[in-house]
Amino acid sequence: MSFRDRVAFDAEAGTYFDGAMRYIYIKPEALMGIALAMPEDQRGAVLEAMAESVFINGGKSAKTYQESGAADGEALLAVIRETAPQLGWGSWSTVVDGDELTVTVKGSPFAMGYGAADHPVCAPILGMLRAVSPVVLGGPTEVRETACAAVGAEACTFTARRLTEAPE
Ligand SMILES: [Zn+2]
Repeated sequence: MSFRDRVAFDAEAGTYFDGAMRYIYIKPEALMGIALAMPEDQRGAVLEAMAESVFINGGKSAKTYQESGAADGEALLAVIRETAPQLGWGSWSTVVDGDELTVTVKGSPFAMGYGAADHPVCAPILGMLRAVSPVVLGGPTEVRETACAAVGAEACTFTARRLTEAPE
């Protein structure tokens, strides 16, 4: 069942829930404005904190998706490609090639909400992929946003690489 079918609105309580997970609507400008409200030299740290928070909390969603049937990497990616647009997180496509996962996001709300920048800004997507990519690639990963619409790219591009384990 898709996110849109699962999410339950309680008008009296003023809540949206997907199972035990509560959701809210927030404008991208208001969310990304948290970073922009800080002095310029601290914005990078705020974006990193956003990525870390989504890594922790989005990771819980990824775990729930896995437990509800998306057990292997490709199934999990399929759920995420379906769910991300329903959350308003843009249109996602994914390519797995060996130890590398490339995710292209068209219409990132985070790039739009932040506005023009000289560095990638889509920290929430980065955090989500930090949670998801180790499941897909079968080990610890490093994730980077290599192109961002906020920097003028047509779409945002993320690369997750499986880290080769250090020799003992
Ligand atoms: Zn971006």
